[in-house]
Amino acid sequence: KAPQAHEVTELGGTPEQEAYMRDIIDQFTVDTNYLNQIRDHFMAEMDKGLEKEGATLAMIPSFVEGRLTGKEEGHFLALDLGGTNLRVVLVTLEGQGKYKTVSSKSRVSEELKTGPMRNLCDYIAECVDTFLTEQGLEDQEVELNLGYTFSFPVLQSRINRGVLTTWTKGFACTGAVGKDPVLLLQDALLRKHVPVKVSALVNDTVGTLLSNAYNKPSTLAGLILGTGANGAYIEKFDKITKWKGSKASADEMIINMEFGAFDNERKILPLTRFDNKLDRESINPHAQLYEKMVSGMYLGEITRNVLTDMIDRELLLKRDENTSLAWSKEISRHWSFETAFMSNIEADNSTDYAHTKEILDTNLNLHDVTTTEARFIKKICELVGKRAARLAATSIAAIVKHCGIDADGCDIGIDGSLYEFYPSFEARMYEALTEMMPELTNIRKTIRLGLARDGSGVGAALTACVAARMEKIIA
Ligand code: BGC
Ligand code: MG
Repeated sequence: KAPQAHEVTELGGTPEQEAYMRDIIDQFTVDTNYLNQIRDHFMAEMDKGLEKEGATLAMIPSFVEGRLTGKEEGHFLALDLGGTNLRVVLVTLEGQGKYKTVSSKSRVSEELKTGPMRNLCDYIAECVDTFLTEQGLEDQEVELNLGYTFSFPVLQSRINRGVLTTWTKGFACTGAVGKDPVLLLQDALLRKHVPVKVSALVNDTVGTLLSNAYNKPSTLAGLILGTGANGAYIEKFDKITKWKGSKASADEMIINMEFGAFDNERKILPLTRFDNKLDRESINPHAQLYEKMVSGMYLGEITRNVLTDMIDRELLLKRDENTSLAWSKEISRHWSFETAFMSNIEADNSTDYAHTKEILDTNLNLHDVTTTEARFIKKICELVGKRAARLAATSIAAIVKHCGIDADGCDIGIDGSLYEFYPSFEARMYEALTEMMPELTNIRKTIRLGLARDGSGVGAALTACVAARMEKIIA
């Protein structure tokens, strides 16, 4: 699958640069045949995860039984931990499928992310407390039900019980792995006398699925394509062969796939040396390999790895001895190239790459990037971004093929900054889906991807509502 000659020539540059770019294009291109192979491997891994504990795709039962009707009413709290911000959300269900939300958000410092879990929980409890005071809800007579969106791999044993198996996305608090995040948070709330009951533990993908399904009953799956990457879908109870508990009241259950860990054993993913470098230098080497190729936390760093490799080979930002070096200290710093820069660079349609040059200048101190260099850099962003979207699409193709869809098609709710803001991310996913499923004549009508904004907030509140119903708090 040699790249088209014109694709390279259009970039201009020296023969050495051309040869380099040709190789990079080749390494980052995932063709249709390759996509299909990845999808098939994905499906095989799904089956393994449904069969036994400890598989690469954890395929975790969420214990969310049944769906909501849209008639539910009442106040529910949601807490969202695991993306860029910590958020507290008050969701008021008004019946008729309608709801209102008010929320507050705050940043979780690096110190809290990597310090003792107790400190993190105390901080969260304080945020909840402040929020309740702001909303005039601090003196509730009955405890409010809170849905805790804890977006990390948790092996659940009940709707509000589970054990954290490992941290992801740069979190590494001590004293949390092997423990129940609900109990840790409930303790912190009790210490501060905050009148809130943690009644549901929810993965953000599960929340996204539920909030999407609230208005779109044909929802099959919920995905997060943001800081991290993962998906959840509705599975027939009979297919969850590893299930040991009693038969649930419903005949289906939402499964949190934890697909960020897909192919941790490196059997199929098109890993490049840039991905290997990123993995090696990450806080969790050998883990979350698919997530590291697909999600917002990592794409910028992959791009930076390509750029610094080009710089080291004197193929980019090379200047003669009399002028100062064009590359700055900034670009040499781990994580300095944010995925948001890629987003903005990809959106640059100016003829001389003025906008790209400006982004590089203001954020990375790269003052005199030439038009040809800007063109290379944009191309590299495009390669990394496009590969991410195409790989992300393999998970959807796998879910759809695993479940089978009828003539009416299905809805897939997606939340996350990458999906919401990265230019062409969705279009590239559709393109890959079309390639994998040429039999579907109108892909956008059959597999309806859609933004489930604030799936983590609303979905967690809805789950708290389901939990309350399961406990028959609501008749
Ligand atoms: C976590 C998942 C989560 C995803 C998206 C991953 O790193 O393991 O539990 O759903 O990020 O936030
Ligand atoms: Mg989120």
